[in-house]
Amino acid sequence: MTINRIELVQGDITKVKADAIVNAANTSLLGGGGVDGAIHRAGGKAILEECIKIRNRQGSCKTGEAVMTTAGDLPAKYVIHTVGPVYNDGKHGEDELLTSAYLNSLKLATENHVTTLAFPNISTGIYHFPKEKAAAIAIKTVKDYLADHFIVRQVIFVCFDDENYGIYKKLLKY
Ligand code: ADP
Repeated sequence: MTINRIELVQGDITKVKADAIVNAANTSLLGGGGVDGAIHRAGGKAILEECIKIRNRQGSCKTGEAVMTTAGDLPAKYVIHTVGPVYNDGKHGEDELLTSAYLNSLKLATENHVTTLAFPNISTGIYHFPKEKAAAIAIKTVKDYLADHFIVRQVIFVCFDDENYGIYKKLLKY
């Protein structure tokens, strides 16, 4: 059962001791507010230095794509930076782009033999994706992926705010 491979916690993702934590980054990869700011602050400058190297190599990170860096001073080993969509009206490919952000993070984790992976609630802060819809997309994408991929053994959904935590608890029947 894939459900046993999904864990739900409420808290600060910078404190989570997974192999990799996912950052809800922006296309610049240079840091920002919300969870992005928290990760760069707690992880120290090693993360930004690697982000700058990636930018110099490949340019910005497009919406829906993902790149990986060290986790610097964080308890995790790696940070996977993915860019979720800014929610406009739901008619600009937002659902597909959010699915891609989760899927490309899972693929990058698999390629790098990450066994435990923690996700924040991508796009549901400054990018205004409706929380219930975002949670349904996140859970479906992760469940479908785990059903036929086994290198990532466990996914932890880390909800920061009460509203997201309540929605995930309900949808995961936690
Ligand atoms: P986005 O720009 O993708 O919307 P935000 O960082 O603004 O990114 O918000 C994404 C989610 O991250 C929100 O649900 C917010 O509550 C949550 N969040 C903010 N800080 C943290 C943190 N330290 N750990 C985990 N989640 C966080």
